[in-house]
Amino acid sequence: MQSGQVVKSLLYQIVRFDTLPGHEDIKRRLRGLKESGHIPHALMLTGPSGSGKMILARTFAQYLHCQNPANGEPCGHCNNCRLHQENSHPDLHFIYPIVKNKKGGITVSADRSNEWFKMLADYPAMPEEKWLEIIEAGNSQPTIYVEEAAEIIRADSTPAYTSSHKIFIIWRPERLGTETANKLLKVIEEPAEDTIFILVCNNELQLLPTIFSRVQRIPVGRLSQSEIAEYLHKRYNFIDSTANQYAALCNGSLIRADELGQNSGEREEFLEIYREVMRSAYAKRVLELRKLSEKIAAFGREKIRRYLDYTASMLRENFIYNMRVPQLNTLTPEEEQFSSRFSPFVNHLNVERFLIETDRAKREVERNANSKIVLFDYFLLTIILLHKKK
Ligand SMILES: [Zn+2]
Repeated sequence: MQSGQVVKSLLYQIVRFDTLPGHEDIKRRLRGLKESGHIPHALMLTGPSGSGKMILARTFAQYLHCQNPANGEPCGHCNNCRLHQENSHPDLHFIYPIVKNKKGGITVSADRSNEWFKMLADYPAMPEEKWLEIIEAGNSQPTIYVEEAAEIIRADSTPAYTSSHKIFIIWRPERLGTETANKLLKVIEEPAEDTIFILVCNNELQLLPTIFSRVQRIPVGRLSQSEIAEYLHKRYNFIDSTANQYAALCNGSLIRADELGQNSGEREEFLEIYREVMRSAYAKRVLELRKLSEKIAAFGREKIRRYLDYTASMLRENFIYNMRVPQLNTLTPEEEQFSSRFSPFVNHLNVERFLIETDRAKREVERNANSKIVLFDYFLLTIILLHKKK
């Protein structure tokens, strides 16, 4: 599909500050560190998942290494930038939690580097669940094992190869094993002159206090809805109204934005189903609804979740449609055509309950309930809600 190509070509540019909307104060601070030459030896970007920390960390690393930075961005052309973009810079080390396999052989991050770099390219906002899926963590707790400490200490004591600094980006330092952390305390406290640690932390309450006290914190907050809309517009070429509609579903998370952006082709398919569900529910065609619940259940959990998100956004749009304030609506022409007749059925009597039940169905699907049953129950409830009278 074409949108896949768009995504791929834009991935190349993701390691720039300006591909990430917002966080201007943080970008200014990071640029200022390079300009001043006073770079703390251990920084920690900390904040909720999906707030863009990893993109900031990677861009900062490339910016530090870049030989000709321009306008506050890495140039993208020098030898160091090229090595960054090829994922082969010898002075950039990524450390991340992994799961040891039974046969042994996988003990340090580098043993999973193929999967890691693919993940960075495909999911730059780094959803942790995705990583767990990729490394097939199963029920095991991914960990930064003690073997990693020896690797880090060794690399710290080797001079930088092609640039001014060796940079270690530690993703999810919350998952440092106690033994690993203890071995790293000294090197994080007093690394070699040319070493910089950048920790990327989702939940500092889970971080060992001994590590926490040795880093300079840079809090990274959630992005605003308009910043997410800008990201969707830039990265996925969404027109403004669509970007706004989707951004409203993201709760400030780039992870959600990528998920919606990468699956935007589903919108027409989902409208078709939404229309069928609502028509069948209105006409009380229970057998049809059962077939539809089976059809949607076959999508698999992720896509079901996206369908229910779409339903929630359509219910909201339908409700607003009744107020006749067109600038509040962000419907495609096809959606509008359906809404013009259907909207009166989503009103003050049922909209709140509709949204609560949609969200409940979504959470039950996420919790591995039987999707077919959850969806069918939800559709039966739709019949009742659509026929609610004063
Ligand atoms: Zn450069």
